[in-house]
Amino acid sequence: MKRVFALLAGCALVGVLSAPAAAQDYPTDPITIIVPFSAGGPTDTVTRLVAESMSKSLGEQIVVENVGGAGGTLGAARAAKAEPDGYTLLLHHIGMATSATLYRKLPYDPKTAFAPVGLVTEVPMVLVARKDFPPNNLQELITYAKENKDAVTYANAGVGAASHLCGMLFMQAIETPLTTVPYKGTGPAMTDLLGGQVDFMCDQTTNTTGQIKAGEVKAYGVFADQRLGNLPDLPTVKEGGLEGQSFAIWHGLYAPAGTPEAIVNKLSEALKTALADQRVIDRFAELGTTPVPADRATPAALQDKLLSEIDRWKPVIEAAGEYAD
Ligand code: ASP
Repeated sequence: MKRVFALLAGCALVGVLSAPAAAQDYPTDPITIIVPFSAGGPTDTVTRLVAESMSKSLGEQIVVENVGGAGGTLGAARAAKAEPDGYTLLLHHIGMATSATLYRKLPYDPKTAFAPVGLVTEVPMVLVARKDFPPNNLQELITYAKENKDAVTYANAGVGAASHLCGMLFMQAIETPLTTVPYKGTGPAMTDLLGGQVDFMCDQTTNTTGQIKAGEVKAYGVFADQRLGNLPDLPTVKEGGLEGQSFAIWHGLYAPAGTPEAIVNKLSEALKTALADQRVIDRFAELGTTPVPADRATPAALQDKLLSEIDRWKPVIEAAGEYAD
């Protein structure tokens, strides 16, 4: 509302409100950040932590809206169509890059539909299972999955999600397709894993560290070159016998394409401030991640990352032959 009054007042005074003036005053109203997955999952967790801090430095409320479904593409589509005025943003992850190849038809072009604001964080992925799932280590999991391929269920957050990518790589590596159970995010997938309704999944440490430490799930390995400082007993999947399996899930903040540069830059500065906030750093550390350094929380760094990741995953996805409409 404030924004509408400000606009009307401005127009009455000068006849027309120039874009730079609007950018200078920005923000004058609450900002919405769309999370393209359910509440309670890793993207949601990262977003809420960063949003709380950004809201302080921007001096405006930031509302997090969960728009889950179709591996993150529904929320991304909503953000792509939003008014490019800085009041609707999107915090997405690697799925922005993989969905470019996974989907034959997307209602937006990931390369051009957004004005990147900056990278946020990179998060390792771990393989976890319900507590009473029989396999006790990665080799046992591989054998068990092969022998029980019609019964074993793998939870993910839909085609295009990080959990989908990780599961695709795992199934490709063990040459065994398994039944996947898609959710709107891995928050609810974790709830079902804890309840024993699904067998296993691969998800960010931001949604698994607490459960692993509390012994509520079985953990088989981390998809990283080295063991994690906060989970030192968890082997890498390479140690467990899966070669060439190392990648991290990166999160980025976007505005719709056409958002004035001055607003994008203001948001990028607020993002940098949030990523240097000790509360954010400490909470990220507990969850097994770190904020990116300030020189990567920039529009250029996120654009580079997006384009290079689209190129990196295209041949892998094409080789797996995984597509969605
Ligand atoms: N971690 C999820 C995925 O991409 C999404 C989420 O709920 O944040 O699989």
